[in-house]
Amino acid sequence: MDLDVKKIRKILLKWGTENYKEYPWRSTENKWHALLAEMLLQRTRVKSVVPVYNDLIEKYPEPIDFANAPLAKIEEIVYSLGLPARAVTLKNLATEIALINGQIPLSFDKITKLPGVGSYVGAAWLSFHAGKKNVIVDANVVRWICRLVDRKCDAETRRKKWLIELATILTPNQRVKDYNYAVLDFTMEICAKKPLCEVCPIGAKLCAYGQKKLKQ
Ligand code: SF4
Repeated sequence: MDLDVKKIRKILLKWGTENYKEYPWRSTENKWHALLAEMLLQRTRVKSVVPVYNDLIEKYPEPIDFANAPLAKIEEIVYSLGLPARAVTLKNLATEIALINGQIPLSFDKITKLPGVGSYVGAAWLSFHAGKKNVIVDANVVRWICRLVDRKCDAETRRKKWLIELATILTPNQRVKDYNYAVLDFTMEICAKKPLCEVCPIGAKLCAYGQKKLKQ
């Protein structure tokens, strides 16, 4: 099945508009808070991040506050998210950003040199909070793209050339932020681990996996 990229994009943008999720970091104008949120969201459930994020930005609103905070206090707040090493990484990141006066770099190469900022966080922050086109590829997005073309995916698929190329082709030049939010939410809610093909707006006509499943 040839992928109808334009139609899939259009459907996702519409779905995203109708199902937009408001989280505190999505509407913040504060670049540091936004980066902090992207760091917290890694390998964590979104709902668990909300109280931790709110607590951290209230207690340590600026990178310098965060950098000077006792590590034990940060550990205590992020404890509920698991991954205790994250507190150290966040403090190192805050320290680095305080040193550059809060001016978070606007290029992928530079932002991903900051402590703990990997390619996913870098791309997400640039796309959502700096208005730069970046392609978002997390585990859910990989699973979704593999289903669209009915290919098997494993832990290595996210690094495969064909996958990155397809994710790039799907990502529009306009409304990148809207599209990326839509993809994140859609792959969490509809094309989830257990896909809801029966109610999916992409469905059997545009998705190889959906076609197989809905024909059964
Ligand atoms: S039809 Fe099913 S597998 Fe395809 S995108 Fe929709 S939910 Fe995912």
